[in-house]
Amino acid sequence: MESDPTVAEARKQALRAQALELGFSVMGVAPVQPELRRAYFLQWLAEGQHAEMAWMARDPERRLDPQQVLPEARCIIACGFNYYQPEPRRRGRIAKYALGKDYHNLILKRLKQLCTTLRGWDGINRPYVDTGPLLEKPIGAAAGLGWQSKNTLVINPQQGQYLFLGMILTSVELPEDSAPRDRCGSCTRCIDICPTQAITAPYQLDARRCIAYLTIEHQGSIPLEFRRAIGDHLFGCDECLDVCPWNRWAQATREEKFAARTYPDLREMLDWTHDDFHAATAGTPIRRLKLPRWKRNICVVLGNTGDAHDLPALERAAADPDPMIAEHAHWAIQEIRNRG
Ligand code: SF4
Ligand code: SF4
Repeated sequence: MESDPTVAEARKQALRAQALELGFSVMGVAPVQPELRRAYFLQWLAEGQHAEMAWMARDPERRLDPQQVLPEARCIIACGFNYYQPEPRRRGRIAKYALGKDYHNLILKRLKQLCTTLRGWDGINRPYVDTGPLLEKPIGAAAGLGWQSKNTLVINPQQGQYLFLGMILTSVELPEDSAPRDRCGSCTRCIDICPTQAITAPYQLDARRCIAYLTIEHQGSIPLEFRRAIGDHLFGCDECLDVCPWNRWAQATREEKFAARTYPDLREMLDWTHDDFHAATAGTPIRRLKLPRWKRNICVVLGNTGDAHDLPALERAAADPDPMIAEHAHWAIQEIRNRG
């Protein structure tokens, strides 16, 4: 649309200033055909490492070619929004991104404000948060937000890894950034800490083994081989982030909507009705899980960390008409009894 380099640079600076005002910590611009680790992505899909996340395998060529999504696109704007906050101390850990309100709408609304500016420059735009047809992590790296690290997340040298990524495909021409140098070096902390060995090699993550997948996306019974390793992770897992030295200086998010909600003890939640669950989790990423899988996860955590005081609640759950809940409750009871 506009090829004058001075105008394009001025637009980018204006957009970046607006992004920062909207609460984003970082913004960069990736080429419309960025390096997307094509061979790895296709092999990852071919081996079924995306597990039940069927949408990942739908039309991979489209994912690998953003111009199939928007033929007019000339670049991709990538924004990172800090969501870090210390985890509250309680039984059953919830991944930091899910402690407060769901981020999708909040980030999308802010990307749409950037789109309004782009429209003023005659831009045709498509904003995406997580659910779109874009490979956010390699695009985020190509936009200079950071490097795609050994635990596969983008590391920003100043902000670390606790960043929600939002993308805008746009027809406006903007100066491109470039991926910073990989600074993982010889570190292997994320690989070493992973309780389920889901990081099968540096830069490779098998979703089928990842606690974030098993406790959030996975629909049915949690495979026995992973239950003990899940430990006290009730919803998601941050272990490979928490251990990363680049996250040492993460600052708490200033977004009040992400403030951690409080939840009752696991025992009490095991007796929840659907209404209780919906009331307590409304507007959070946890709501999408629905009650049966929430109770499934509670049983796993109690099986790993509970004691005799938890047995009455587990025995009630063992009589649940949902066979998945009942089976996980039986497993937990057995685990607690085995520990004596
Ligand atoms: S989120 Fe947890 S289970 Fe998944 S790769 Fe990281 S440490 Fe492993
Ligand atoms: S823990 Fe180490 S290897 Fe893993 S992402 Fe961080 S710096 Fe890279």
